Amino acid sequence: MSISASQPPSRNRASGSGLPTVTDRLVEANARYAAEFTDPGMDARPVLKVAVVACMDARLDLHAALGLQLGDCHTIRNAGGVVTDDIIRSLTISQRALGTRSVVLIHHTGCGLLDLTEDFRHDIEAEVGQRPAWAVEAFKDLDQDVRQSMQRVRTSPFLPHTDDVRGFVFDVTTGRLREIDPRP
Ligand SMILES: [Zn+2]
Repeated sequence: MSISASQPPSRNRASGSGLPTVTDRLVEANARYAAEFTDPGMDARPVLKVAVVACMDARLDLHAALGLQLGDCHTIRNAGGVVTDDIIRSLTISQRALGTRSVVLIHHTGCGLLDLTEDFRHDIEAEVGQRPAWAVEAFKDLDQDVRQSMQRVRTSPFLPHTDDVRGFVFDVTTGRLREIDPRP
């Protein structure tokens, strides 16, 4: 497929092979995307006033799974969809500066964090001689971790809107969401 955009410099290509890297592929896809793109004229405030906090898992297509359109929501993702300080930072900006009111938390079956423990962090320390400042936030019980995440959002002193916070587990084999009761 030919594109009109200039090719990336050769130094960005995989050394020696001359083959496009994955990033080259993304840049080429963007050229096609931009060729069809028209400015939707939106501002930065999400139309549905909702922030979705989810795992970074590659099988989780949030917009498709939740019927979301461009401009509808904030999507805030990390390993596990864990509510860390940085997620609270993003939610605080989302609510206080950009007008969101609802929070949806999504964990999922088969999450990579289910197979990890805090040993992951200790092993890194042993390897590189420096302990990561962050916790792994590994978990064994998906439902309980969703409850904990809801609780962290609800009790954050920085968030003005905590009355509509709901948590779910997405099943990667069926595409279905299962809501988690905040009470165990
Ligand atoms: Zn995950």
